[in-house]
Amino acid sequence: MKMFDPHIHMTSRTTDDYQAMAAAGVAALVEPAFWLGQPRTHVGTFEDYFASLVGWERFRASQFGIRHYCTLALNPKEANDPRLVEGVLELLPRYLDKESVVAVGEVGYDDMTAEEDQVFARQVELAKTHQLPVLVHTPHRDKKKGTERSLALVKESGIAEERVLIDHNTEETLPLVLATGCWAAHSIYPHTKMDEQRMVALVKRYGPERILVNSAADWGVSDPLKVPKTAALMREQGLDEAAVATIVWQNPVAFFAQSGKIDVAELERASEVDQRQLFQGNSVLRGGQAPLVNRRS
Ligand SMILES: [Zn+2]
Repeated sequence: MKMFDPHIHMTSRTTDDYQAMAAAGVAALVEPAFWLGQPRTHVGTFEDYFASLVGWERFRASQFGIRHYCTLALNPKEANDPRLVEGVLELLPRYLDKESVVAVGEVGYDDMTAEEDQVFARQVELAKTHQLPVLVHTPHRDKKKGTERSLALVKESGIAEERVLIDHNTEETLPLVLATGCWAAHSIYPHTKMDEQRMVALVKRYGPERILVNSAADWGVSDPLKVPKTAALMREQGLDEAAVATIVWQNPVAFFAQSGKIDVAELERASEVDQRQLFQGNSVLRGGQAPLVNRRS
């Protein structure tokens, strides 16, 4: 079964991860722009980061047979840094129309400050202008309140709710999201908030419609194979193939295809790998390594 990881930060991961994901059936992914752990101190570093998400990282994924899309935004945490806000918001329109940018995100709340409110609302406006969906990060602390406030902001903005994906849900927040028209994603982490078993229970209770799962793997303790692992447990515990495929493939494809930038028929075909290719003169291979070439004739 083909799978789609709709939230994973590959910039922080290795080529071993790409290989393991491809072998486990992950055929496509979305990499949201996020906080890099080390606070950035000037706008220029965002420009290079956005350029790498639409450029080098997309190429790197292709070298392992994985389609790479991204979402771009000023993340909620750095929305509190006055050195960054105006410059990054000014920069975004130049990148949002690039072909692999399928949403504005991750936007949302970290500490739920007034600054975060402003930057969140302004970026939802950018999404409307650029006719893109929105990916909303919900805070780790006080998640219920953060989710309620996010849903209220979405409603007030007037953006169509079916163009909004609320991420990092739990048992407490999922019913709130499903009561609106928004989609609901779940990050499956090792040893924390949401795991495979709890996710299976949620699907049994609420069904597969508008439900997504992701690994949210990044530079922290996380697992880039959580989507295939969750799919395997769903199957083992009696969910039918159609429900599993809806969650791990059709829903993310349908949500992000609202950007108008995903050729769904093309995406359904197996991707080609040609490691002889270069990106601005650079390869993922080191001297002496044999390129993998697997092209459709
Ligand atoms: Zn993230």
